[in-house]
Amino acid sequence: GFCSKTLIFHSLRPPSSLPPPSSQLSVTDFIFSLAGTTAKTASFIDATTRRTISYSDVPLIVRNLAGCLRRPPVSISHGDCAFVVSPNSSYIPILYLSLFSVGVSVSPVNPASSIPEISRLIRLCKPAVAFATSEVVHKLLEVGFTNRIIVIDSNEFDSMIRVESNVDDGTTVKISQSDTAAILYSSGTTGNIKGVKLSHRNFISMIAGAIAGNQARSSPAVYLCTVPYFHVYGLSLCIRSVAFGDSLVSIGRFDLRRMLRSIEEFSVTHLPLAPPVVVALVDSGNEDLVYGTNWRSVETVFSGGAPLTVAVIDRFKRQFPNVSLVQTYGLTETTGGISRTAGPYESSIVGTVGRIIAHCVAKIVDPNTRAGLPPMSRGELWVRGPFVMKGYVGDKEAIDTMVDSDGWLRTGDLCYFDNEGFLFVVDRLKELIKYKGYQVCLMHSKLAKHAIVQVGYPDESAGQVPMGFVVRRKGSSIDEIQVKDYVAKQVAPYKKLRRVCFIDSIPKNAPGKVLRKELIKM
Ligand code: AMP
Repeated sequence: GFCSKTLIFHSLRPPSSLPPPSSQLSVTDFIFSLAGTTAKTASFIDATTRRTISYSDVPLIVRNLAGCLRRPPVSISHGDCAFVVSPNSSYIPILYLSLFSVGVSVSPVNPASSIPEISRLIRLCKPAVAFATSEVVHKLLEVGFTNRIIVIDSNEFDSMIRVESNVDDGTTVKISQSDTAAILYSSGTTGNIKGVKLSHRNFISMIAGAIAGNQARSSPAVYLCTVPYFHVYGLSLCIRSVAFGDSLVSIGRFDLRRMLRSIEEFSVTHLPLAPPVVVALVDSGNEDLVYGTNWRSVETVFSGGAPLTVAVIDRFKRQFPNVSLVQTYGLTETTGGISRTAGPYESSIVGTVGRIIAHCVAKIVDPNTRAGLPPMSRGELWVRGPFVMKGYVGDKEAIDTMVDSDGWLRTGDLCYFDNEGFLFVVDRLKELIKYKGYQVCLMHSKLAKHAIVQVGYPDESAGQVPMGFVVRRKGSSIDEIQVKDYVAKQVAPYKKLRRVCFIDSIPKNAPGKVLRKELIKM
């Protein structure tokens, strides 16, 4: 554990070995080097189409796809960025691994994004090529994307997924671990959306750490990942499953019934979920569905990405006494989970997000004085390690506010460690709303000349719902429906305002910062 005077917290997990940072290695190379040592009987499985792709074929398919994409007419090359707009499917990890292998950075986005949002992200990451499903490809056309678009559910793409050898031109691309592997979107600790650059090294360190704690098993684990592959949580999981030799079932857009049916059909053992799905599982309204499912194969449910309340944890443990509930905590900017619970003892500590992972060093910092604080004191969590992002796309200043010159990343979360090294997340200091685990960054302060302040209003099933406090422009009689409609036209459905309240003025502190907590209390 940690002594009462500890100010710098080191990981209590066994260390894992990392390749030297200077060796030329893509995250795909690293995954395939590990895959050689794990079970080859596992596969990618699409629950809806029942298509399966055996991991023993994956290295060849990935090489062939990369070869196709490098040749005309697509002609992608090292340093390019590829935009990906798709729900989860088996083709997504294959696409990611191919693009990583030739040094093309992957920028996946929520397919529910609105057209103005897509347009903004394209301006940020400047993709040379885009991949989209037929259902959402119109969004790329509507924003006037003129570079090549490849439809994922098409004969063209199917024909690039080949198991025959010799499609490759044989040349290899030299990848530095510091090259950008992915650009993911997050608002960090301030309002605007930013492109988070994660390097090959970032992902390699996360996979190396996870594999060290992985237990050998006689038959492959079967993961059903309902978390989107465009978010760091789902992305890491979908690529690392090949390294671990764990089968991965994809169900596309989340749907509770489909998830439950697939658990039975594919004898799922591990279920990575976002907290709202855990809430849905213990919701009395879903009792018939949930009890009607055979849970015998399920060993572990993971919850991460947003807080899970103690009440929900208790209900879950009562309802599923044979399933272990693992909590994980992390950020896009830390390449995903930097703490987790492991084993029954750790899972029995109520409310903790576990212990920090190997290679992670942490501090709890007084938000006002920036002094380090000992165990049991609350402050902002700062972390350092090989998983800390490279930076933000085209925004030098934003990285300086998030990562200091010694490499400490400010999480924007109010946390504390106990004496046994368990981390607890108490509150969020940064202005970020999480609706059903999705980030909703705060929008502009003006709405057709009305002042609007957005807050995350607490909600049991969604975590938080976006709520707007509006100060009407003089003489205006704009009403709740008009405000909601105005916002809904510009944002993805999950970012819609679900509550609106009209006020006379916005409470601010002396330096002019909006007091959102006061608004929520109101
Ligand atoms: P994202 O970049 O979308 O992964 O969002 C990261 C933020 O989600 C963190 O800074 C936390 O505020 C929140 N978060 C992630 N995991 C947890 C967790 N297990 N408990 C509480 N908050 C969490």
